[in-house]
Amino acid sequence: MIISTYDPDRLHRSYGIDLGEIDMGAVEALGVGANWGRVAPAGRSDAHQHDETETFVIVQGHGDLVVDSGRRPVWSGMVIQFEPFETHHLENTGEDDLLFATFYWRDAPARSEGRTPAETAAHYSAEILATHKLMDIGVDHYTVSDQDAGYVDGVRDFFARVATSPFVSVADGDALFDGESGQYLYEVDVTGSCPTCGSATGGNMCEECGEPNFATDLVDPQATASTATPKHGRIARYSLALRELGPDVVAHHHMGRVPARVKELTDRLFRRERLDLAISHPSSWGVEPIDSPLDGQVIWVWADMAYRFLHGIEAVGREVGEDWRADSPDPDWKIVHFLGFDNTFYHAIFCPALYKLAYPDWTPDIDYNLNEFYLLDDDKFSTSRRHAVWGKDVLNPSTVDSLRFYLSWTRPEGRRTNFAWSRYEAFRDETLIATWQRWLTDLGERVESGYGGVAPDAGVWTPEHTAFLARLDGRLGELTTSLGQDGFSLNQAARALHGIVEDVVAFGQREQPVTGIGEWKDEARTALALELAAARLLANGAMPVMPRFATRLAACLGASPPATWPSTVTLVAPGTQIGLAGQTFFAVDTPPLQEWLVERVAEALQLPVDEVSLGSRLVGLGMTSLQAIAVQYQVLEKTGVDVTIEELLGERTIAQLAALLDAAGSATVEVPPA
Ligand SMILES: [Zn+2]
Repeated sequence: MIISTYDPDRLHRSYGIDLGEIDMGAVEALGVGANWGRVAPAGRSDAHQHDETETFVIVQGHGDLVVDSGRRPVWSGMVIQFEPFETHHLENTGEDDLLFATFYWRDAPARSEGRTPAETAAHYSAEILATHKLMDIGVDHYTVSDQDAGYVDGVRDFFARVATSPFVSVADGDALFDGESGQYLYEVDVTGSCPTCGSATGGNMCEECGEPNFATDLVDPQATASTATPKHGRIARYSLALRELGPDVVAHHHMGRVPARVKELTDRLFRRERLDLAISHPSSWGVEPIDSPLDGQVIWVWADMAYRFLHGIEAVGREVGEDWRADSPDPDWKIVHFLGFDNTFYHAIFCPALYKLAYPDWTPDIDYNLNEFYLLDDDKFSTSRRHAVWGKDVLNPSTVDSLRFYLSWTRPEGRRTNFAWSRYEAFRDETLIATWQRWLTDLGERVESGYGGVAPDAGVWTPEHTAFLARLDGRLGELTTSLGQDGFSLNQAARALHGIVEDVVAFGQREQPVTGIGEWKDEARTALALELAAARLLANGAMPVMPRFATRLAACLGASPPATWPSTVTLVAPGTQIGLAGQTFFAVDTPPLQEWLVERVAEALQLPVDEVSLGSRLVGLGMTSLQAIAVQYQVLEKTGVDVTIEELLGERTIAQLAALLDAAGSATVEVPPA
């Protein structure tokens, strides 16, 4: 139970009257704000309207309530509820203070999932991190902004620096509101046609042409949450005159790796006469600026993001013993962004403009690596339409390498590409299983049968051998360029890796006829040593693309996991035990549910997997209900079983929970990810 008692000493001026916070954590967790309000005798509150629903409970005094120009008396004991956007104010007509409690809330986003914003954020944050792990993507630092001490203060300070710029002001501007509820509309709350290119778009950003919009300039706007025609209104927000920073952004684009497509978009945008962007918005979710005159507005999430990169750099610095400071960015930093084309404006234009305002003396050196759209069955991925491949459905230790390789092969670099499940499977079967794996296991068998399972020493070198070694050196050069900073291209890296295998398969076939002929045995062992050198190059070169495969391949060649990038192609040391025969590097099976559940529980609790045993109970491991919600979501999406929080945090062990899910899941229809 939480009790809040009216305290006249804890009031502050707001809306022309005295307001005091009602601190009710449980209420706030549901997205409801609460305040005490006091209107002094003969005083009145400022008329205001907002997009929240609001309820007044009058506890003392009497006065007049003026709503949309109608006036009626009110007195203690009355409860009044306002619809969003009803203009209202209170006048005290009595001789005592008029006291009331007010509760306000938005029927806003996250409602469609029936969860609070905090729960939704916690859920997706856990999901994203879990999918990264399943994908073997190591994350050095992962900012969970609402759980990171110092983050909120940091973003506020950053915004305060930005806000002192002469190009930033609190200004009245046109805004769009729901025609029924009066909810402020921006981002995903509104759709329409792009004012620039006419494509269907959401608020603030067109995915097709990459140009920002202001929601108010959408053609035929439509609120996501209602069918009423949106209406225009005026609202004060922090506003950035971005046009004024055009020359700074262009100068920034002379520094790092900036695709021509980014430069063209920038040129197009800064041809506009004005480009005034609201950088704060009415919302119950986000960080409020310091000393903001705008109640209920938060820093635009994209400005928040600009700071988040610097915050992340500081955090990484702490982990590696470097004194990097978010509030004092270093000119020596090389920052590399990876982003979808539809976010180009935010990453490559808006962020550097904010950096210029916040840190005028810093010259940020940033590379931008773009992904165009990656389609699924020739249509855009859409999580809301469930037109998607869910990482946790398809990623496991035996599939992750082939999926990573295929994604590298087909990454949308400079053009849209398409994923189709059947084409991926055909590629995996023909390329990775029938070509790579067949060569590697065949090589292992030849080492066993001809050399007792150990790497032979090279003998006599023919001109073809020397030429083949030079060719492998060429492949190493290709890989070095395509995985390096300046020429980064996963398409090219994947082709260079496959090129090694194609080269060595052809080389082996050419050399094969002399195998077993005594006269040529010294040449034959050189050829085999070169095939092993190619396998070793494949292990080293594949490490960034397929770390699991690369580690296993290296182990089969008697080496530890590749940790440094090779400068030359080298032979496997003669006498090394070779374990390639009979290995399966690429396959299609899935792990049992138990193992999967242990991994999800370990992630939710941020524990190493080996600290979570099948015999543990989740509550015994200290799992909170918020963490259990994340697990519950994952279980639902993985198995289709809606296990309750009570079941998760009850008496069952992880093994028993897995059995429960197995039994319940087998009763549901499995939809193959095709
Ligand atoms: Zn457009």
